[in-house]
Amino acid sequence: MTRRGRTDDEETGRQGLEEGMEKRRMDIRVLIRDEVLAQKAYAVEHTACPIKLDANENPLAIPEPLRERFAARLASIPLNRYPEAGSPTLVGRFAKAFGVGEDQVILGNGSDELIQILCTAVARPGAEVMIPVPTFAMYRISALNAGCRVAMVPLDGEFDLDLAAMLTRVASNPPALTYLASPNNPTGNCFRRERIETILEKFPGIVVVDEAYFHFSGRTFLPVMGRHRNLVILRTLSKVGLAAMRIGLLIGPPELVHELNKVRLPYNMNALSQAAAGFYLDHEDAFLKQAEEIRRRRGELFSAMEAIPGVHPRPADANFIFFGCDFDADRVYSQLMERGILIKNFNTPGTMKNFMRVTVGTREENNRFIEALQAILSK
Ligand SMILES: *Cc1c(COP(=O)(O)O)cnc(C)c1O
Repeated sequence: MTRRGRTDDEETGRQGLEEGMEKRRMDIRVLIRDEVLAQKAYAVEHTACPIKLDANENPLAIPEPLRERFAARLASIPLNRYPEAGSPTLVGRFAKAFGVGEDQVILGNGSDELIQILCTAVARPGAEVMIPVPTFAMYRISALNAGCRVAMVPLDGEFDLDLAAMLTRVASNPPALTYLASPNNPTGNCFRRERIETILEKFPGIVVVDEAYFHFSGRTFLPVMGRHRNLVILRTLSKVGLAAMRIGLLIGPPELVHELNKVRLPYNMNALSQAAAGFYLDHEDAFLKQAEEIRRRRGELFSAMEAIPGVHPRPADANFIFFGCDFDADRVYSQLMERGILIKNFNTPGTMKNFMRVTVGTREENNRFIEALQAILSK
């Protein structure tokens, strides 16, 4: 090569590269895996409604004196420094609270991230993830994104696990990972404990019991953690009042936690989220009191819904009520929205026909919802 110009070979190579880049720019999707291309991005409803009962959030703000203390704590965080990698202080505190070893806990950027870490870790070519349906959407999305196959087994007529169908499937294609949300989202019920126990015994793969709604069901598999080497429990602080802070928790066997920590990004929990999780532990009573209040409101809301002809609420163990109705759910949903009330519409042909989900709100929000529902249905 001379100092003045490029050799012919170099020139051709360069042109070829530019043409290649040009082509890729024109259809960059050729680079993307089919499982990703086939998906739709997770849709979050952005319509601003004064009464927001669609996302299973705690309707109550942090009580005033705590709010100030929280703000002061956040203000003292050195934002120029990286946070603690792997949140070891919090891992220690939560492990103690759960009565497990420090080598059994991982904190995540919401339990969504922990679901993603689990899927990534097991995603050998051909690995299968089993989920009952309907259930929480992120299990399927994360499994597909990681390159896993997804086996969807419909729930039975009571929205409980169809044990026979799941066992049949496991005999031919044992899943590496099975997700069981109990209480289940969107159906709101806990699965029968014996059925989950049977799955823990019979499934060779990891069985995740997602206890996102533990604070409203009071039921947990934590005490039997030591009896099952394949049991993983997920918890979150999102539904109990800190959705914005993105704090999820995974509790599992030490050998598994050890591997999952290699998949986890080093600074997955930012410093503000870590501070919020510590704050939660310092003031857990205040949050649990709110959860108790939400449970009382759930009872009131349930009775009020049951009293409306043509409205059929399902047993509710979480902070929301899943209900069917004898009317066109699409109409009910949009007319509620016109009245400033946002819920979640699950209306699809089949077992979910005319089903919707409403989050338990404050007493006033619940009353407004009931009044609006009555008005819409009487027309
Ligand atoms: C809301 C929800 C989650 C997600 O919780 P984040 O911690 O906010 O990511 C996980 N599992 C189920 C079943 C949920 O309903």
